Order: sequence, then C-alpha cells, then structure tokens
Amino acid sequence: MSHPKLGELRQEINGLNEQILKLVQERARVVVEIGRLKRELGLDGFDPLREEEMLRDLTTKELAPLSAADVKTIFKSIFRAALEIQDRERERQLRVSRRDLVPAHGIRVGNVAVGAGGGPALFVGPCSVETADQIDTIAEFVARLPGTKVLRAGAFKPRTSPYAFQGLRVDGLKLLRAAADRYGLATVTEVLDTSTLDVVASHSDMLQVGARNMYNTELLKAIGRSGKPVLLKRGFMATLEELLLSAEYILNEGNDAVVLCERGIRTFERATRNTLDISAVPLLKQATSLPVIVDLSHALGRTDIMLPCARAAIAAGGDGLMMEIHNAPDRALSDGMQQMTLDECARLVAALGLGHAKSAPEGVA
Ligand code: PEP
Ligand code: MN
Repeated sequence: MSHPKLGELRQEINGLNEQILKLVQERARVVVEIGRLKRELGLDGFDPLREEEMLRDLTTKELAPLSAADVKTIFKSIFRAALEIQDRERERQLRVSRRDLVPAHGIRVGNVAVGAGGGPALFVGPCSVETADQIDTIAEFVARLPGTKVLRAGAFKPRTSPYAFQGLRVDGLKLLRAAADRYGLATVTEVLDTSTLDVVASHSDMLQVGARNMYNTELLKAIGRSGKPVLLKRGFMATLEELLLSAEYILNEGNDAVVLCERGIRTFERATRNTLDISAVPLLKQATSLPVIVDLSHALGRTDIMLPCARAAIAAGGDGLMMEIHNAPDRALSDGMQQMTLDECARLVAALGLGHAKSAPEGVA
C-alpha cells in the first residue's frame, strides 16, 4: 500500500515536470527566433562566449541540493538540444533541400535531359581523351547505346602522380567536342581550376567537379556562375552533408542544374579501389531533389563486378550510372584496369534491361 505523502510528492513532481517541459519548450522557441535573426544578420549560430557567460551566471550562486557541476551538466544538455534545433532549421532552409530543384523535363545537358525519370542516364566514355581515333570510335559506340547518354572523357586530368599522363588539355577538349558533334552526343568533362573554366565551358555541355575538387569553394562558385549543368562528385573522404554543402555553393550562384555523383569513398578495404557507398543514393535522395548518379568505375576500380553493382545502384534509386569504357583498355593512358571494353559495356547495358545496344563496331573490343 502506498503512503499518502508519497502520492502527494509524486503529484508535485509531475507538476514540476510539466513546468520544466513548458519552460524548456519556451526556451527552444526563443532560441529558434534568435537563430533566424542571426541568419538574417549573417552571424554564426553557436556563440561559445555567450554559453560560457550563461553557465557562469547559473553556477556562481550557492547551489543546493544540486551542485554547480550538476547544474552545469543539465544546462549544457539544454543548450545542446537548442543548437540541434538551430542546425535542423538551417538544414531545412538550404537551397539544396528544396524539393523542386529539377524541372519536370529534367536537367538539360546538351540535347538530352537528365533526371526526368524514364530510366537511368548513362555517362559513358573513356577515362581520358587520348587520340582522335580513340574518342571517335568510343563516341560512335556510345551514340548507339539506348536511352539517355552523355559522353564522358577527361581532357584536364587530376592525376595523383605528376609523372602520369595529365590529359591532352585544350586539344583533348577539341577532340571530345568534335567526336560528340559527329554523333550528336552531349558531353561531360572535368574542370580542374578557375583558370581553365572558360575554355572547358565553351567546349563541353556539362562540367564535372572531380572528387579532389569537391571542397574547392572558389571553383564551385565560379562554376555556379557559369550557368552550365554540373556533375558534382563526392570527395573520397567527404560526408554526405559536405557533398550537399558543396552543391549549395553552386546553387547559391543561381545554378540549380547539379547532378550529384557517388564515386566510392576511401576505406581500409583493398578489394575495390574505393568502397561504393550504396546507402549514399537513398540518403541523398531523402535530403535533396537533385538527381543522384553512381560512378561504378572509380568506386570499384575493376570491371568484373560492374553488373551487380550497377543493379544495386539502380535499385537504390540512382538516376544514372557513370562507367568508363575504352576500345583497348590494356593500352589506356589512365585507369586501364577499370575500363570496360565496348562489347562488355554493350552486354552490361543489355543485361540491365536498358534496351538492346547494338554490338561494338567491327574490329574493336
Ligand atoms: C573522372 O571521372 O575522370 C575522375 C577523375 O573521377 P574522380 O574525380 O571521381 O576520381
Ligand atoms: Mn578515370
């Protein structure tokens, strides 16, 4: 049988809980208001000096029965909760979080539309433009693939070693444009820096920001101002939040035509070149309405498991696939190990049910 006094005290506790809850909620409302005001004023949400001052005021008096340390712990958690609300609020207000970023007709890249539904778009081509013949042969093959396709190829190459093939640069851009035009294809190629942005933009339908440049905020802003569609790759060690904030830099310049690309992240696993983070696809799609594609070649660094991983990427909701292909991968000047032959690519595309690609031209593969 419970003691009547115990019941009374419990009632009192319930009442106090209610009051504390009301006050904590009221405090959170004021914090949100302060956060909004600070954003308008361009100030940072977190102010460590203000937090220190509030904690000092709360703990200088004689305290009992809770000690100063207890009070500090309680208020620190109240402060943390309020900051989390501010973070959530800020996230909701990001341009990249908008649900209406892609027009119904998709993102226009040259003469094709990406992210308009209607099957995954293919971003296919060699790692690098090497010769006129090579890019011509590959462009002819890509033109015969079914569905939406964009010819990819690097002219300015971000190579790890300064002694490795650095790309044909402007000559590569010209060869890529000429081959694409011959077969009516849209193109994507990487921009390495702001000094070569104009020349790349004048030769390509879409600009690629590579994994190494995802954090290059000046380049992102300049690309945003160029107004060209952008293929933004995730850095090898970038969180999804960081990728989204990089996209935000581009969107902030008035350019919403951004396609996000998961291309594998660096982990301890050595069986693949990087680790394909499939969860990135649905998570990015929850966070933004921008299209999300998966670069299988740079994620895997090998071709033998391309098909199941491509299926996984599409099943996860991917809007497209990037794949490197070469008419003679053994002789490729960069990334030979991960480039499919044209026949392998034709078979993979057919196996994915994206349509039946005609076989590679005579004498290649
Ligand atoms: C590329 O696609 O050519 C490339 C260099 O990829 P990443 O930036 O993902 O390494
Ligand atoms: Mn490559």
